[in-house]
Amino acid sequence: MEFSRNDDHAALRAAVAEVARSFGPDYYTRRAEAREHTQELWTALGKQGFIGVNIAEEYGGGGAGLTELAIVCEETAGQGIPLLLTLVSCGIAAEVIGKFATPQQRQEWLPRLASGEGKLAFAITEPNAGTNSHDISTTATRDGGDYLLRGQKYFISGVDESDAILVVTRTGTDPKTGRATMSLFLVDSDAPGLTVQPLPVSVTMPERQFTLFFDDVRVPASRLIGTEGDGFRQVFHGLNPERITGAALCVGIGRFALDKAARYASERTIFKAPIGTYQGVSHPLAAAKIAVEAAALMIAKAAWQHDHGEPAGEASNMAKYLAAEAGIAAVDAAIQTHGGMGVSTENGLVPLWGMARLLRIAPINSEMILNYVAQHTLGLPRSY
Ligand SMILES: Cc1cc2nc3c(=O)[nH]c(=O)nc-3n(C[C@H](O)[C@H](O)[C@H](O)COP(=O)(O)OP(=O)(O)OC[C@H]3O[C@@H](n4cnc5c(N)ncnc54)[C@H](O)[C@@H]3O)c2cc1C
Repeated sequence: MEFSRNDDHAALRAAVAEVARSFGPDYYTRRAEAREHTQELWTALGKQGFIGVNIAEEYGGGGAGLTELAIVCEETAGQGIPLLLTLVSCGIAAEVIGKFATPQQRQEWLPRLASGEGKLAFAITEPNAGTNSHDISTTATRDGGDYLLRGQKYFISGVDESDAILVVTRTGTDPKTGRATMSLFLVDSDAPGLTVQPLPVSVTMPERQFTLFFDDVRVPASRLIGTEGDGFRQVFHGLNPERITGAALCVGIGRFALDKAARYASERTIFKAPIGTYQGVSHPLAAAKIAVEAAALMIAKAAWQHDHGEPAGEASNMAKYLAAEAGIAAVDAAIQTHGGMGVSTENGLVPLWGMARLLRIAPINSEMILNYVAQHTLGLPRSY
C-alpha cells in the first residue's frame, strides 16, 4: 500500500481545482437554481484534458484511468460544483465505449467526449423494473439491418444536453432465470419515434431528468455497442465507475461544505466566542470530516482495482455507501453551523445537500449496497 505523495495526482488536483475555482460555487448555485447547464465549465475542463482524463490518448483523452477521473470529480465538487453528468458520460459511457465499442465507434464518439463538446446520457432505469434491472422491458428487435426499440425509461439525466443516449435494452430472456438478456445501443437524443418528456425533480441542480418513450425507434446495427445479448456484463464494466464517480462527488461536496463551515464557525461570534468553540458545533463537523476522508480512501482503493482489472464491485459499493452517508452528514452539519444562513440561497448549501441526498438513492440505493455486502462479503442468504 502506497500513501506517499503522488506528484502527478497533486498537480492534477490543483489544476482541476483552479479551473473550477475560476467559475466558483456561486456559478453553480445560480445555474442550479435556474436549471441551466454548466457547459462552459465542462468545455473548460475538456480543453485541459480533464473531462476525458480516463479516455485513451489516441482519441484525444488523457490516457489515465478511473483514479484520475475520480480526482476530477472530487476537485470540481470540492469547489462547490458537483457535475452529475460526469457519472454517466465520463463514468459509464466513456468506459463502456472505450472497452467494448468497435474502432469506428470509438473514433466517432470518444473525441467529442474527451473535448467536453459532446456528452452521452445513460438509460437503464424503467418505471416497472426500478432497481431490479434484470426485469427491464424496453425491447430491441432486429429488423433487417436495423433494430427497433420499444419501451420506456425514466429519471434519465441530461438527455437535453447529450448527443445520444446509451440505452440498455432487452433482446431476449434467459429461459432458466427469466431475466433479460441485454444489448446496448447508442440512440440519438433526437431520433424519430423517441419522445423526451421532462420529469421535474425537487433537487436543485443544473441537470434535468426525463422520461423517454421509445415508439419503434429505428437504430442501425452499427449503433449496437459490443455483442448482442452480452449487454449486462458490458454495462457492469461501467457501473463500478458510476458508483466511484458518484462517491467522488459526495467526497468533494463534503470537503467543500466542511471547509466553508469551519471558516464560518471560526468567524461567527455568538455568546462572546466563535461558535466553533462550542463542541455542539465542532464535533459534528469533525465526525463528518472523518467519514469523508474514510470514504475518499475507499474510493482510491475501488478506482485502483478497476484500473488494474481486478474485481472492484465490493470496494465500489462500499465507497459509494460511505461517501453518500458522509456527504449528507457533512452538508447537514455545515447547514446547522450556519444557522439561518445555512438555508440562504447565497450560501448554496441546500442544493449540495440535495445532490448528496440524491446520491444515497442513485445510481444505486444504499439498501442494495447493504444487500450486496450482506450476500457477497458476509455470505448471508439473499433476501430478494
Ligand atoms: C435525479 C435522478 C437522476 C437519475 N438519473 C438516472 C440516469 O441518468 N439514468 C438512469 O438509468 N437512471 C437514473 N436515475 C434512476 C435511479 O438510478 C433510480 O431511481 C434508482 O436506481 C432506484 O430505482 P427506483 O427509483 O425505481 O426505486 P425502486 O426500485 O422502486 O426502489 C425504491 C426503494 O426501495 C428500496 N429497495 C428496493 N429494492 C430493495 C431490496 N431488494 N432490498 C431493500 N430495499 C430495496 C430502496 O430503498 C429503494 O430506494 C436517476 C434518479 C434520480 C432521482
